[in-house]
Amino acid sequence: MQALEPVATMQLSRSFTVLIISINTLVAGCQTTSGVRTALEGEPSRSVASLTGASIGMQRDPAITAVLREISAGRIRDTDSILVSFGTRHTMSDTLSATRGIGAARRFLHARLAGYSRECGGCLRVEYDPAMIEVTRHPQRPMVNVVNVLAWLPGRDTSRVTVIGGHYDSCICSVDRFDFTSDAPGADDDGSGTAAVVELARVFSLRFPRGLESSVLFALYSGEELGLLGSTHLAARLHAAPFRITAAMTDDIIGNVVADDGRVDSMSVRIFGADPDNGPSRELARYAWAMGITYTPGFTVFPVFRLDRVGRGGDHSPFVTLRDPGLRFTERLENYKRQHLPTDRLADVNFEYVAKVARLNAATVGAMASAPPPPDSVVARRDQASGGQKWMMTWKAAPGATGYEILVRRTTSPTYETVTSVGNVTSYLLSDQLDDVWAAVRSVGANGHRSITVAVPPPAFPPR
Ligand SMILES: [Zn+2]
Repeated sequence: MQALEPVATMQLSRSFTVLIISINTLVAGCQTTSGVRTALEGEPSRSVASLTGASIGMQRDPAITAVLREISAGRIRDTDSILVSFGTRHTMSDTLSATRGIGAARRFLHARLAGYSRECGGCLRVEYDPAMIEVTRHPQRPMVNVVNVLAWLPGRDTSRVTVIGGHYDSCICSVDRFDFTSDAPGADDDGSGTAAVVELARVFSLRFPRGLESSVLFALYSGEELGLLGSTHLAARLHAAPFRITAAMTDDIIGNVVADDGRVDSMSVRIFGADPDNGPSRELARYAWAMGITYTPGFTVFPVFRLDRVGRGGDHSPFVTLRDPGLRFTERLENYKRQHLPTDRLADVNFEYVAKVARLNAATVGAMASAPPPPDSVVARRDQASGGQKWMMTWKAAPGATGYEILVRRTTSPTYETVTSVGNVTSYLLSDQLDDVWAAVRSVGANGHRSITVAVPPPAFPPR
């Protein structure tokens, strides 16, 4: 892998071992205005990043930039147009027809992914992932064969996997949740996300036929509209294997740019990262946010710090429940007159916009799958020698890591404000009073890629 390159728009400066991560406003150390901390005497000077647009020390990898360039809006449109041509992709629709229903849709997706695998010398492992699942929301509670379509790109470490998914089932749920015969085009929900994930499988297989440091799983879910059936099954299956889920991300409704009130936004996307504020999903959101700044400047990532939109759900959620880092990508402006209705048409999907979201996905997936695992067992205790003003952070070494970085933010800051490179060690004396901040550790690989951050104190999850 080529060396990482600094981000052109990022002013990066070293002060002892402290990296200054501001992108817009690089503030010198010893000021006292709001948002700036005064450096302590005798310590390396530190600066605080502007609160928006922090790349948190991430750097671009030319190999991943090449993947982004390969993503084609036209190919995404082609995949989505074929999905729509099957009339309905309701999870309970026809499975035998070659031209209509969810069976035809999944055979098409499998064939398309298998074709990409042939072109890369068999680098993708393509499979159907079936499960007989009771549809508990249906009055008759039928058992339905819910079939995900999966493409694995095995990495050098096959025990860790980054999941990027979309759901290929559709519905006209706003008319009748269980109408499995009428047309349900689902061009945006979620033909857009499914087609983006298919394109990601193509470009990663093309550019990384030997895989990355860890595995990537391109997952096309069924049963989403009936209660996240396919993703719930897959999350349980991956945990039982057991795989370590580096991240589980879903593209769901990523192609509309015009709201019903006429507002237009084709230049930003929302990412939804669940509570708690120092938990794995939120740390993943910070990671994806930084990837946007680093790889797709001009396309704004709008982080939303909650599991999902109000009263809505998605295929990242079953992973979040199992305490994996989960994230949802969704268009900035939804048009509710075209969701779960026969009006969710191909003509209203903006494929240049879908491609922009797919590029952000590619940067996040590529970086996460290139990084070593995050450090384990991260704890902090008050340092007695300093009278409790400092904290000793310790962690277990991560296989493949050649160094670690400490990231610190105020509890009110959405993302990290300082990054300190501490070398290849498993402890660090934090000069900040941990009572007042969040502190985290991440691994750095020989290739320059960073893991997700692990914060102290550990997140408090609600009981399962
Ligand atoms: Zn959806």
